[in-house]
Amino acid sequence: MSDLRITAVRAILCQPNTARLVVVRVETNQPGLTGLGCATFTQRHRAVQAAIEHHIGPFMIGKDPCRIEDLWQSAMVNGYWRNGPVLNNAISGVDMALWDILGKRTGVPCHDLWGGRCREAAAVYVHANGSTREEVLERAQAFIAQGIRHVRCQYNDYDGIALARSPSPEGAQPGSYFDARDKLRSIPALFAYLRRELGDTVELMHDVHERLAPIDAVWLAKALEEYRLFFLEDLLAPEDIDWYRTIRAQCATPLAMGELFNHPREYVPIVAERLIDFMRVHISQIGGITPALKLIHLCDPFGVRTAWHGPLDTSPVGMMAALHLDVSCRNFGIQEWMWRNQAEYDLFPGLAEIRQGYVYPNAKPGLGIEMDEALAARFPCTEGNPTWSVTRLPDGTLVRP
Ligand SMILES: [Mg+2]
Repeated sequence: MSDLRITAVRAILCQPNTARLVVVRVETNQPGLTGLGCATFTQRHRAVQAAIEHHIGPFMIGKDPCRIEDLWQSAMVNGYWRNGPVLNNAISGVDMALWDILGKRTGVPCHDLWGGRCREAAAVYVHANGSTREEVLERAQAFIAQGIRHVRCQYNDYDGIALARSPSPEGAQPGSYFDARDKLRSIPALFAYLRRELGDTVELMHDVHERLAPIDAVWLAKALEEYRLFFLEDLLAPEDIDWYRTIRAQCATPLAMGELFNHPREYVPIVAERLIDFMRVHISQIGGITPALKLIHLCDPFGVRTAWHGPLDTSPVGMMAALHLDVSCRNFGIQEWMWRNQAEYDLFPGLAEIRQGYVYPNAKPGLGIEMDEALAARFPCTEGNPTWSVTRLPDGTLVRP
């Protein structure tokens, strides 16, 4: 047992880009030894902040930061009810910070703590969005020219809002509208066009964002099979997972899912039944690096590869945690990566950059990323609820986001 103790757990909120970020700093009684973790649940940032400041933080004070497994397990059950998104994020912020501290304390980068490198860098995929098929193609070509070989292709606003042409009833609610019938017509045509223009060597993805009726999802997976996607993402909502069996029996379109998962009961059966090909949980939503390592080892013998969620609402600290997992797990598939702005690079020294389609972890101990808290104070969070997540079909029926 070491004399090292946790002395403070702080939630740091900032918004250097479009997403509100929640980063946790864990301090210890060893001068200068601190760790960073990602607790970003951008739509409910204040709830996570309160969970850290009032519950998870005080629970950690005085404990040995090197007992990561025991601290994760005990923080999970301390509130009795568990596996919800707010508390999972709060625990993730601490968990990642503890791995960061352990790496710094032992003088090795985090991936060396759990097995070392399987590869030097992680291949990434990026998003090519456009209002027209020509715009999508142009963006994809610009990425390919930079050496990127994996591109997710979408019409703007998840393929329906911009394309919605069906009339709505009089008095329809204001907000976002999505036309599922339009999506079914337009997406196979988009991929026929992209394959024609880009050829066979570039890898293409598409995200359905769980917005189709299950039987339409089955049809779309079959319709896209001939375009040989790298994967089709979130074809079904977590509530409709049972429909994957029907899809698997009918086509070989690779399937990716997981960014909405919080509870092991959501991701364990889907792996054990080999219903998907890529597990893409939002690492902070499942509770951090500790459960992600277990999930990696669960997926491996079932042939499921990783593709961790990597939007702007995964903080740069969370992206570096994902990257350390990417380079050290055999069953890595691909890493989603968004272009980060200068403010994020200034705030988070050590954040990796894309070079020829790859991102590289640095060799610094721990996660290899720091945070300039004084600068972060100059990027306060906006408040209020998101609007994009309340979307309707043309007749006004709500669809899942
Ligand atoms: Mg997605």
